[in-house]
Amino acid sequence: MNVSSRNASLAARDLAVVWHPCTQMKDHEHLPLIPIVRGAGVWLYDCDGRRYLDGISSWWVNLFGHANPRINAALRGQLERLEHVLLAGCTHEPVVALSERLVALLPPGLTRCFYADNGSAAVEVAVKMSYHYWLNRGQPRKRRFVTLSNSYHGETLGALAVGDVELYKDVYRPLLMDVITVPSPDCHLREPGCSWEEHSVRMFAAMAATLARHAGEVAAVIVEPLVQCAGSMRMYHPVYLRLLREACDRHDVLLIADEIAVGFGRTGTLFACEQAGIRPDLICLSKGLTGGYLPLSVVVTTEPVYAAFYDDYEKLTAFLHSHSYTGNPLACSAALATLEIFASDDVITRNRALAARLQTATAALADHPQVAEVRQTGMIVAIETVRDRASGTRFDWRERRGLRAYQYALDQGALLRPLGNVLYLMPPYVIEPEQIDWLGTVARGAVDAACA
Ligand code: PMP
Repeated sequence: MNVSSRNASLAARDLAVVWHPCTQMKDHEHLPLIPIVRGAGVWLYDCDGRRYLDGISSWWVNLFGHANPRINAALRGQLERLEHVLLAGCTHEPVVALSERLVALLPPGLTRCFYADNGSAAVEVAVKMSYHYWLNRGQPRKRRFVTLSNSYHGETLGALAVGDVELYKDVYRPLLMDVITVPSPDCHLREPGCSWEEHSVRMFAAMAATLARHAGEVAAVIVEPLVQCAGSMRMYHPVYLRLLREACDRHDVLLIADEIAVGFGRTGTLFACEQAGIRPDLICLSKGLTGGYLPLSVVVTTEPVYAAFYDDYEKLTAFLHSHSYTGNPLACSAALATLEIFASDDVITRNRALAARLQTATAALADHPQVAEVRQTGMIVAIETVRDRASGTRFDWRERRGLRAYQYALDQGALLRPLGNVLYLMPPYVIEPEQIDWLGTVARGAVDAACA
């Protein structure tokens, strides 16, 4: 078999049996799959030996590169000892050590770790736990959730219900619980001359009014701190989180921070909430938690929430939620190795220089006639393309401009996967400054290709 037919052969076998996520499978009649055989650092290699720089950290999970030697070694060691055991009735060193470490790193007061095995499942846990908390405290009326427009919290029915991305949600609306949706502080929509901070404060008025009116029936507010990632990487100022924390306290409503995408350094601090100086009542973590190696998620909450479930068995107040792979030891050991890298390598400081480089590498795009905005929070840069900048006219979604950018980038050797008409860079932290410059050049070409 010659080299190039290897890619085609694996792709053909795939298309006979695999149904891919977030994909209209018919697209693959003309869009080739990329069969990846190995990864090393920021690079992914296909069957033909062609390489692609993983500019989106494989859906935002990878932090320290593919096949990272330190995480590999931790996993190998754990594999020799224990691959898995149920976490009901049993425990193991990796889950205990990981929980101790998370509690030490998170804003003070978040002390109890409940595990699941993916981001959506963590959101389900947080939603059920919040409702159940009020129920156990004799307040069954508090069963609704407040969420922001354009938010995304996952694809299972509860997570989909508290999200607001039409493309994923619309079809399933008849199956979903009713939520209260408040306009997002999304700073892309601010008036000219208005700062991110002013806009975020202004937009808080709607949240304040909603909480004042509905607090008696609201269990929790759920937000993605600072960046609505799947919602086209729209961003807002930390002041919104500070105001939200105060209002939730005032109105006796729980605050859920979904840091599944933004946690572990993406926004410039280890956790995005740190930038607002707040502590949520529940925080959801996943993705980067294991450095992008294995599925694992955790909801960390406070003593008061934990205490509301803690009673004699006969009272039936326990949180009986469970998943087979809860707290899997291999996943926990990958997470421990990941946190060890944060501790030993001063990652957050190095990332500051990388974030500055990302800014320089993409700055010129702001002058592009079909770029409405280049925005950045920490290690996330997003480029909003439009048909016409002066009038703000958007491209028709049917034109699938982002797909052109995707194909252009692939031809150059970079894996970028735009969200509609928004191209973004969210690379692994092991990227070199020169590779960032190169990604900036690819992004420019990709925008040209998308807008041509
Ligand atoms: N919340 C946020 C903020 C996310 O970005 C995602 C995934 N993109 C999820 C929840 C769901 O995580 P998962 O894909 O692991 O179910």
